[in-house]
Amino acid sequence: MFRVALDTPLRRLFDYLPPAADSGSPAPVPGMRVRVPFGRRRLVGTVVELADSSELPLERLKPILEVLDPKPLLDAAALELIRWTADYYHHPIGEVLAGAVPKALRLGAGAVETEERWTVTEAGVAAHAAGEPRRAHSQRSLLELLSTAGGGASAAALDARGDNWRDAARALKQRGFLTRSDVALELGSEPVRVRAAGPQLLPEQDDAVEQVGKSFGGYAAFLLEGVTGSGKTEVYLRLTERALAAGRGVLVLVPEIGLTPQLVARFRERFEAPLAVLHSALTDSERLAAWRDAWSGRARIVLGTRSAVFAPVPALGLIVVDEEHDTSLKQHEGALRYSARDLAVMRASLAHVPVLLGSATPSLETLHNVDSGRYTRLRLLRRPGEARPPRLALIDLRTSAIDSGVATPAALAMERHLAADGQVLIFLNRRGYAPTLLCTACGWIAPCLECDARLTVHLAAGRLRCHHCGADAPLPARCPQCGFAVKPVGQGTERIEAALATRFPEIPIVRLDRDVVRKRGDLEQVVRRMSSGEARILVGTTMVTKGHDFPNITLVVVLNADQGLFSTDFRAPERLAQTIVQVAGRAGRGARPGEVLIQTEFPQHPLLQSLLTRGYDGFAETALEERRQAQWPPFSRLAALRASGKTREAPLGFLTEARARGANAPRGVRLLGPVPAAMARRAGRFHAQLLIEGRERPTLHRFLDRWVEEVEGLKSAQRVRWALDVDPIELF
Ligand code: ADP
Ligand code: ZN
Ligand code: ZN
Repeated sequence: MFRVALDTPLRRLFDYLPPAADSGSPAPVPGMRVRVPFGRRRLVGTVVELADSSELPLERLKPILEVLDPKPLLDAAALELIRWTADYYHHPIGEVLAGAVPKALRLGAGAVETEERWTVTEAGVAAHAAGEPRRAHSQRSLLELLSTAGGGASAAALDARGDNWRDAARALKQRGFLTRSDVALELGSEPVRVRAAGPQLLPEQDDAVEQVGKSFGGYAAFLLEGVTGSGKTEVYLRLTERALAAGRGVLVLVPEIGLTPQLVARFRERFEAPLAVLHSALTDSERLAAWRDAWSGRARIVLGTRSAVFAPVPALGLIVVDEEHDTSLKQHEGALRYSARDLAVMRASLAHVPVLLGSATPSLETLHNVDSGRYTRLRLLRRPGEARPPRLALIDLRTSAIDSGVATPAALAMERHLAADGQVLIFLNRRGYAPTLLCTACGWIAPCLECDARLTVHLAAGRLRCHHCGADAPLPARCPQCGFAVKPVGQGTERIEAALATRFPEIPIVRLDRDVVRKRGDLEQVVRRMSSGEARILVGTTMVTKGHDFPNITLVVVLNADQGLFSTDFRAPERLAQTIVQVAGRAGRGARPGEVLIQTEFPQHPLLQSLLTRGYDGFAETALEERRQAQWPPFSRLAALRASGKTREAPLGFLTEARARGANAPRGVRLLGPVPAAMARRAGRFHAQLLIEGRERPTLHRFLDRWVEEVEGLKSAQRVRWALDVDPIELF
């Protein structure tokens, strides 16, 4: 009996008999894809395990129709990871598997890269010798060509000649003179060369490489903590070099590749070897090609965003997760919501290899794992070639004069740093010109018709845009309600850039946010103008922290630290501290020390104070203690049942019924809610959530297992879109 995972919403495996003897297919082993009958359809599935017996009577089982792979698509550790994912996130295994491989493979394409070849048959050889076919000139010359080319050629080679050879080939095939075949390409792994030796390691780097290197061949988890520029990437590169030298492959996960081209570039510079790069912007065929490179072992370095955690890496030797705290590593949309970081750790443990989590601002979960001895902490304290960290100070917005969002002390500091030839970064996590368009006569505020949100003014583009659903409308000159003039209220990066251009007319300014990055090439231009020193002021959102290096920035001004100090989401302070530290990390990266000014209306806030006086470590300690007292994760376990529907009532009705089904939850498991989202209406749909909190992971998961199946069966479930989010990282 073969137990097969199929891409269906059913939470189970399906039993099949071995392929019929006359089908020509050998019996498959786990990890191979098979084609099977399913109702009236034929589906491609993956054999997950073999079994001695089935719940179904033997006569009702059907045989596998065809085995699609000559060797497993997924090795034992990869299959185990898929099973673990399905269990832990309470998701149908067939869907997990389907999501883990490129679309083409899901549909049955071969895993092995093949080449289309046209070969002359015996009859063809005879025909050629006899000068046939006499009348069809193009057929005769094709036969001539293939005969002299050793009896065959690849379609690619024939295409390269430029003429339309396919008609002739088809005709010759019909006459039995040619055959067409798909030949597997032998893509052996290529030797890896280290192009350039890296710099002499600093003692802490050396120690990190040694410690991780010592644990090659077994599971161990490490946190590599160090500010931007402290040399983390260099540690990844050295360990990769060691793994490759030992004949092993390396998997590197990053939050967003489009924004971190520098990491990919560093790997390419260091190693003369094929790299498989997997991310969401690839076309289906590009993804298939990259996946095949990884699977065949041709590329022994696999670098990708969160879904790459499922990528095949033969002889895996090391996993690296860069920026492990970054929320982009969590899939928080769609049906299967997983943390690529957590899965990376699980994969490392299943594959018996070390995993290295890098960050300047580790997540509180990871720090907790360090505290409890599960992870080993490695720290890089010094920046190569430079010693002093930037100086942080708060600016009290209540007692300072403010001009276009910039308080006087910050403006004076800007003048000082610019006069001293420094570069300045102005950070504001809000793109656009202004977050609100207001009529001062009647109080009308431009609303999004699809969301409970205001439209953002994009002045240069002359548009009003919703940052939640993408709604886009022309910018009105007058109030649609009373006809009076309207005015933009509040600050966005576009407005700050304009205001600074007036204040510093001589100084070239650039802006970096999602609006700028959207246009291809603009990102590179901004980075180039800052690196060359041509631009002196950079206005940007969190995007400035993503992988770009601006070593001459000496002053960072955080325009408003207060979003996030008072949020309903218990993770908001953690995110705020990470953002401030990451942004501050842009200052003083060259030989010059940096200065960081944080504008706030709450300078006495304990979070800001602990961050200021004791740095991220001090903040993390305070924040973890708060979490412990409130029994929030990582001191308890959470899951969120999220739902959305076309009416306000639909998701709440469904969640209320779901809650009732959980009335008999075991001790230690609590259901909280349901509550509508803070922004209940989004893109025309209404959102709500129900929280499930558990003191112990096993009890919570046993409960979820049973409960999700009941929830799935509810009638009201069909009127909403819902998903279970285990370890949610954003709460309403
Ligand atoms: P991170 O990944 O922590 O931001 P990087 O590894 O990119 O840090 O290092 C920052 C810069 O310092 C890079 O230009 C890198 O080449 C350089 N660097 C790293 N380690 C050393 C070293 N031991 N000696 C000299 N330069 C180094
Ligand atoms: Zn009005
Ligand atoms: Zn909207």
